[in-house]
Amino acid sequence: MIFDDHYSMTIDGEGAVSDATIAVVNPATEEVIAQVPDASRAQLDAAVAAAKRAFPAWSARPIGERQAMIAAIADLMLRHKSEMARLFTAEQGRPLGGAEWEIDVCAQWCQAVAGFTLPVELVEDSDTRRVEIHHRPIGVVGAITPWNAPLLMAIWKMAPALLAGNTVVLKPSPYTPLSTLKLGELLRDLLPAGVLNIVSGGNDLGQWITAHPDIGKVSFTGSTATGKRVMESAAQTLKRVTLELGGNDAAIVLPDVDPKTIAPQLFWGAFFNSAQVCVAIKRLYIHADIYDAVAHELVEFAKTVALGDGAQQGTDLGPVQNGMQYEKVKQLLDDARASGQKFLIGGEASDGPGYFIPISIVDNPPEKSRVVTEEAFGPVLPLLKYEDIEDVIRRANDSETGLGGSVWSNDLDQARAIGARLETGTVWINEMFAFLPNAPFGGHKQSGVGVEHGMAGLLEFTNSQTITSRKLAPAG
Ligand code: NAD
Repeated sequence: MIFDDHYSMTIDGEGAVSDATIAVVNPATEEVIAQVPDASRAQLDAAVAAAKRAFPAWSARPIGERQAMIAAIADLMLRHKSEMARLFTAEQGRPLGGAEWEIDVCAQWCQAVAGFTLPVELVEDSDTRRVEIHHRPIGVVGAITPWNAPLLMAIWKMAPALLAGNTVVLKPSPYTPLSTLKLGELLRDLLPAGVLNIVSGGNDLGQWITAHPDIGKVSFTGSTATGKRVMESAAQTLKRVTLELGGNDAAIVLPDVDPKTIAPQLFWGAFFNSAQVCVAIKRLYIHADIYDAVAHELVEFAKTVALGDGAQQGTDLGPVQNGMQYEKVKQLLDDARASGQKFLIGGEASDGPGYFIPISIVDNPPEKSRVVTEEAFGPVLPLLKYEDIEDVIRRANDSETGLGGSVWSNDLDQARAIGARLETGTVWINEMFAFLPNAPFGGHKQSGVGVEHGMAGLLEFTNSQTITSRKLAPAG
């Protein structure tokens, strides 16, 4: 084990271990780097009970005190940045610079969320009657996160849930629990006992959270298939749910762009984090007039990008995060090769050690091929040629999911008009990954239910309460 092997959960402000453990593997080496507790059902019950006990006092605090504690989470993460980044890279695979970037964004996010308050809306204030709309915390929030961005996904849930006055039971992915468990350990001195509980475990633990009668809301980020199970299970107790799920995002490149200028942005929009980003470019539609030039520039750029162990200096892209995902991406590559598709670069997974898949760019495969219709969540990008705007909008929207999309052009009016017709929760014009604490983020169609971020995201951690008061007529 290269790291300390005392990873503990945080339950009621204390460290908690478990008889059963889960091995955590470094995806760059396939070595087991740590064992973490595999929470029992009794431990989940204890975490939920602690969160329930902590709720009345936490929600009754003046919001200024909760804001101050959320801002303090930012300071604490920045103070421990290099230690957390090392853990992050070892468990997730992303190069150190990208791990540090995630911690910086977490800190910025906490600072921004700390500036939010819960609004009270006055809809009537007449001589006889006053009507106010308040937003009350729900109670205990269950938060479930995936393995591609473990800290950011945790902060995106924790910070607004806590600010609104809820208490939290958070479960990281069993593939990447270390940095989240570490965060819980660091926060034990900052947050009152029971306010934030972090439990590690597998999919069963996730399922127990969605079914737990004392959890009032589940905020889930993960695959569309699991999201459906979460919603089904949460329905038994009518929990509120926010589901941030998968996508197969299209980028549309108009013929007026300069291929060389745009290639690095398109490349990182597709391949950042070895393409394990829910809103990465997963289908790249390029106008026929510049298709060859953009394809050439992308391949030339890809040749400058170093794939390797993220802990080594000079690595730009790490491995795919786990063996299951590696096999899935490998199968997509095999299918593309077996169907006679042409790779402009890459196309063959390495045999390891390490779950390395080279940058793989497929040259204009058929629209119905698996590499186009399935979310790869790995470094395989189909380039697709189009000639007609109506046709490309139809193809971009021809998906059961609708998470994000982007349009690339020097003509901003035209780009925005095209973007407005994409059936997605987010549209980026000439940029990628512009997540903003004050702008809602969520999916259309099977990419999710509800939103995170912005006032709309914050209010998803509350129940609406309308209070009407009528003045009584004077006696006599
Ligand atoms: P996943 O659905 O396999 O797992 C996500 C989490 O759910 C893990 O913590 C897992 O243990 C837990 N889980 C599994 N089964 C469960 C169940 N029955 N009940 C409750 N919890 C359960 O997803 P993943 O493979 O970890 O992540 C990759 C997927 O996440 C991709 O599809 C990606 O697009 C999506 N994603 C979406 C967003 C977004 O904001 N929309 C962000 C990141 C990732």
